[in-house]
Amino acid sequence: MSDAVSAFMEGIIAKNPGEKEFHQAVREVAASVMPYLERAPQFLKARILERMCEPERVIMFRVPWLDDKGEVQVNRGFRIEMNSAIGPYKGGLRFHPSVNLGILKFLAFEQVLKNSLTTLPMGGGKGGSDFDPKGKSDKEVMKFCQSFMTELFRHIGPNTDVPAGDIGVGGREIGYLFGQYKRLANEFTGVLTGKGANWGGSCLRPEATGYGVVYFAQEMLATRGDSLKGKVCLVSGSGNVAQYTVEKINHLGGKAVTLSDSNGCIYDEAGIDKEKLAFVMELKNVKRGRIEEYAEKYKGVVYTPVDPKAGRNPLWNYKAHCAFPSATQNEVNGKDAANLLKNGVFVVSEGANMPSTPDAMKAYVDARVLYGPSKAANSGGVAVSGLEMSQNRLGLLWTCEDVDGRLRDIMKSVHQQCVRFGRADDGYVNYLDGANVAGFVRVADAMLAQGVV
Ligand code: NAP
Repeated sequence: MSDAVSAFMEGIIAKNPGEKEFHQAVREVAASVMPYLERAPQFLKARILERMCEPERVIMFRVPWLDDKGEVQVNRGFRIEMNSAIGPYKGGLRFHPSVNLGILKFLAFEQVLKNSLTTLPMGGGKGGSDFDPKGKSDKEVMKFCQSFMTELFRHIGPNTDVPAGDIGVGGREIGYLFGQYKRLANEFTGVLTGKGANWGGSCLRPEATGYGVVYFAQEMLATRGDSLKGKVCLVSGSGNVAQYTVEKINHLGGKAVTLSDSNGCIYDEAGIDKEKLAFVMELKNVKRGRIEEYAEKYKGVVYTPVDPKAGRNPLWNYKAHCAFPSATQNEVNGKDAANLLKNGVFVVSEGANMPSTPDAMKAYVDARVLYGPSKAANSGGVAVSGLEMSQNRLGLLWTCEDVDGRLRDIMKSVHQQCVRFGRADDGYVNYLDGANVAGFVRVADAMLAQGVV
């Protein structure tokens, strides 16, 4: 790490103690952007990077609710309004027991650059709660969502801040949140994205992140005259992103062989075909069961439970060509990356946010593999959220073909921006540097134009 990055990080760590994921995300971006800043003194002088690391606003609030036994429960709610230089704050809500201020600040910071890459007019934000929807009844989830929105509604709006889903927040939660917003605000407006198809949602929003991640992999492969056809793919997670990643891999002639949840992973050498994927969708989205049940249902499937002492994830240790981490942050460490490379993986396209540790990222770049970092590869989700906002403003509903065409074009453009800013002297495209610098420049230009605010 350069002296300039180290000095910059000392300030960030002192100001944001204990927020290790936020430090990690800022360090990664600073390492890419600082060499660029030497050639852009106007951004240095205006202290753009320092300002980008300070949220415009942080909201923290109490979320009390009554469980099915009539007992009082208390959770903590958050919304980080990180940057509005290029549009209203935009970013998902995460409901998971691990949620804290540092995790949401890392996600909000990443979101600013990701939204910029899409070229749509969206600033960056993120929010959520330490509430765990797992094991809760639908009624409990509804009561929690209503209490959460009762506070959040005064801070958001279609031209101010437009939340969406993330881990633990899918169609069911967006429905309850939207219902309460509508009741409090007394208006039907596009204040959340990921809405149902017949009440203001966009076609393909549920599919968009997973599809986009695979389109991005396809773009990277095309630079080497290759495609996904016949490629064996490792996918982690089994939620929204993982499900539609598998679907698009199948559409394009690849074969997905793994999935996981927080209890363990499955390996299905025969491939997770359309019928098996339908089983996973029912299992995860309706029955809210565990991925282990896949191995009970289908023959020849290996299930491996999580072993926290192992220091590596067995899912990343199968023979394959491509990897799509789609569960959560830091799920691929240095050892896992070494296993991936040893097993023949030469494409990594990240569905989850920051799923690879710094050691793992370094291993990909050192090995010169095609590495699509999350803020570029998974930007299709927020891109279609942006298209949902456009449709809401126009009062129109575009066809699925139309939205899919726009999504493909956006992923192509994100890829081109990474290539433009990330091509190294030896011709290798460092998509990590490319995404960080391209995302930064658009926001920095807008911040410069808008003065010291
Ligand atoms: P989701 O539907 O809630 O699914 C999350 C999946 O990851 C589940 O299989 C979950 O397993 C697993 N998981 C979560 N936390 C875990 C942990 N600590 N250890 C192991 N497994 C864990 O969420 P999602 O929307 O697919 O989001 C997945 C990732 O994609 C996140 O990093 C999210 O920020 C990112 N992302 C999502 C979108 C989007 O549009 N949804 C867009 C961009 C990026 P359990 O069921 O056991 O919890």
